[in-house]
Amino acid sequence: MTTITLVQGDITRQSADAIVNAANSSLLGGGGVDGAIHRRGGPAILEACRTLRASRYGKGLPTGRAVATTAGDLDACWVIHTVGPVFSSTEDRSELLASCYRESLRVADELGARTVAFPAISTGVYRWPMADAARIALETARTIPTAVEEIRFVLFGRDAYDVFAGRLG
Ligand code: ADP
Repeated sequence: MTTITLVQGDITRQSADAIVNAANSSLLGGGGVDGAIHRRGGPAILEACRTLRASRYGKGLPTGRAVATTAGDLDACWVIHTVGPVFSSTEDRSELLASCYRESLRVADELGARTVAFPAISTGVYRWPMADAARIALETARTIPTAVEEIRFVLFGRDAYDVFAGRLG
């Protein structure tokens, strides 16, 4: 039985087994959630990302995929890095966004994580409209078979929280 919860706040302040990072394919850090996770989590996360790049993802982590590292100084066991699609008004990339949630939960299951905190992937620099992103995130979370007990969406700001809350019903 999986419970979906919503929280308004900073994902780097969350306590969870796994915290999901809206990474970019380089795995070498960026702005938004990515920057905040590396800042608060400390250098161990970047070091683990560099090792992953060297060993498995020399060409970058493909969009829609997910991979785990240490969570460094965060209050979590793992950070799961996933690469959201950039929003396009001419091409439907919904399946790739759903894949981020699905793959992150698959990795969480492999790790044995029971609580997983997600940001609203692709809704920042990647410009996905919040309402549509919330629909895809919640539909995927509701329908995916997983042993994760709590899927927590951590929304940055009141507007994002309200959009998710309106969709969760
Ligand atoms: P993307 O590149 O996938 O769009 P961003 O990190 O730019 O990722 O933004 C994703 C979402 O996360 C946006 O809605 C943004 O407002 C939000 N966000 C930014 N910083 C944080 C944070 N510290 N905790 C939770 N959400 C955050």
